[in-house]
Amino acid sequence: MSSHSPGKLVVISGPSGAGKTTVLREVFQRASAPLVASISATTRRPRPGELDGVDYHFLAPNEFARRREAGEFLECCEVYGRGDWYGTLKGEVAPRLAAGKWVVLEIDVHGTLAVLEHYPDAVTIFLRPSSMAELERRLRERGTETEDALRRRLAVAAEELKSIDRYRYQVINDDVELAVAELCRILTPDS
Ligand code: 5GP
Repeated sequence: MSSHSPGKLVVISGPSGAGKTTVLREVFQRASAPLVASISATTRRPRPGELDGVDYHFLAPNEFARRREAGEFLECCEVYGRGDWYGTLKGEVAPRLAAGKWVVLEIDVHGTLAVLEHYPDAVTIFLRPSSMAELERRLRERGTETEDALRRRLAVAAEELKSIDRYRYQVINDDVELAVAELCRILTPDS
């Protein structure tokens, strides 16, 4: 990573519904590198089953804004253009890098570009489904979005796919096992 920290920063992006959560859960169990997840902050409401401090730090909009103004974020942005903010807290990253961990950020393309300005050596990975049709099918199957939200997510995904060449690695997630194996290969410390 950078000259002063022994850890590594790993950035994973991919459209919502690309299966990131499922794949990453496995990767965290299997990868040989000392991975640790950075828990992002967000103003969006928890989905059923999501826990504060585990899936996200769920913050009220005014609390998010206060911490943003206090300079506590490494990067943050409004992801879906309708008031939902997401961001990476510096406190989730720097201390763990200093401790030699591989800190995994699951963030969007804008966040990745911002992070690369601070950590140009970050290992960037874009996880994608094989097609937009497949992505739409998965989002509908998940059934957690209103039609409106789903359309917005698909539009964002189409936009994000245009930035895919900014990532060091692209991993297609059609088959969870294959995607997990490929990620584990990428996340192997040099011997
Ligand atoms: P979801 O609402 O489905 O959990 O996440 C929506 C999107 O927000 C995902 O594409 C995810 O990559 C992005 N995201 C999650 N956390 C962060 C973050 O800390 N910063 C940025 N820039 N994007 C994030």
